[in-house]
Amino acid sequence: MINKKELKLLREALDTLEAGFADLPEFAPEVDEQALSDVLRQVAERMRDNYPYYHPQYAGQMLKPPHPVARIAYALSLWVNPNNHALDGGRASSAMEKECIVEIGRMFGWRSPLGHLTGGGTMANLEALWIASRLHPGKQILASEQAHYTHSRITEVLGIPFSSVDATASGRMDIGTLKSRLQQGDVGTVVVTMGNTGLGAVDPLAGILALREQYDFRIHVDAAYGGYFTLADSLGKETAAQFACIGNVDSIVIDPHKHGLQPYGCGCVLFKDPAVGKIYQHESPYTYFSSAELHLGEISLECSRPGASAVALWATQQLLPLHRGGEFAKDLDSCLAAARGFYQKLDDSKFFTPLMKPELDIVVYAANAPDTDAASARARLLFEKTAANNLHLALIELPVTIAAAWLGDFTVNSDTITCLRSVLMKPEHETWSERIFAILEDCAARLN
Ligand SMILES: *Cc1c(COP(=O)(O)O)cnc(C)c1O
Repeated sequence: MINKKELKLLREALDTLEAGFADLPEFAPEVDEQALSDVLRQVAERMRDNYPYYHPQYAGQMLKPPHPVARIAYALSLWVNPNNHALDGGRASSAMEKECIVEIGRMFGWRSPLGHLTGGGTMANLEALWIASRLHPGKQILASEQAHYTHSRITEVLGIPFSSVDATASGRMDIGTLKSRLQQGDVGTVVVTMGNTGLGAVDPLAGILALREQYDFRIHVDAAYGGYFTLADSLGKETAAQFACIGNVDSIVIDPHKHGLQPYGCGCVLFKDPAVGKIYQHESPYTYFSSAELHLGEISLECSRPGASAVALWATQQLLPLHRGGEFAKDLDSCLAAARGFYQKLDDSKFFTPLMKPELDIVVYAANAPDTDAASARARLLFEKTAANNLHLALIELPVTIAAAWLGDFTVNSDTITCLRSVLMKPEHETWSERIFAILEDCAARLN
């Protein structure tokens, strides 16, 4: 939570910022403090109507609090409110954005990618698929049935043909099905999800790269969620093997606002070949006068973009560099450990059956019941009951084609099953998972 120490740090940084403009004549816009105070109290009261996302007992959706340095740097930059569309609107913050991109590219082994920040993973994926469709006009884009729903929507917006590929019981793209689709000869691009949103499963990139030797297609990696796990040391062997070849693809999306400790509004798209920049080429009669240097608006579909996002990300990457073995990477290993520990407890419990072993930090589990219909009802009840006990989980609706493989004793009497889902993406979850599990077991015992 915001605490007084953070406010003191912000105050000090503001003094430093202000000193840079000291030679301007005095100008201080009036504020009516009483009116502001009244409205802010209302805001604070309204904002209480939220789940406590920052707290370890929020173990539900993909929500992670921004790092204090990101929060402070973001707020600090708003006194200038830079716009990273063009250098006239945000000189310093555009330079910071370019430095951030270099570091993210380096994490994937890329020396000089073309890339920029976006409003989020959706916009970043849209740009990647737009470029893909320009390079392979009229050809299909494929993604796993467990890929984010955004891909089918984006392709609809772009007017590109799209089909989905079956997923295995592990939640990964089925490589056999992919191969038979490729044999039809109409595939331009395959979207490989490295950490899907529902299950945290990682598509078999190594095998898909091998298929590219035989069939000519582009590979786009959607690592909006899982991209930072490239830095983790404790991935399972098979998962690590997929991340090890991530640099061999054509484009990558990663969301700093998911695992990168940023406030919302911070996605990122990277292209291995900087020459795709010419596809973005356009003239702007308004904005590109101040310098012949690259204006980020020249390689981005969004025009105005928050310089604040770049400032916050830059500050975070300064404090917590994207290095293997560094503090940032170790925190990801803690999330992996939390998920494994939680999985084990569920596996030992008489009330729950976990599905696939977590590849990343997402655990999906069914509530034990005689059949899939009853299990769904029980999961929904537990979702309510745990929330009433200050433990916040999430739900996921899965096709039984994926779930049934893990639910040996359940009679299948529905097409889908509602399971519980916990994204354990706070490093603190490693030490809190015992307590979280105790609340969960207790709620399950009291349902009986
Ligand atoms: C979250 C997510 C997206 C969508 O990104 P937003 O930042 O929510 O727009 C796309 N793909 C994957 C794998 C995601 O996890």
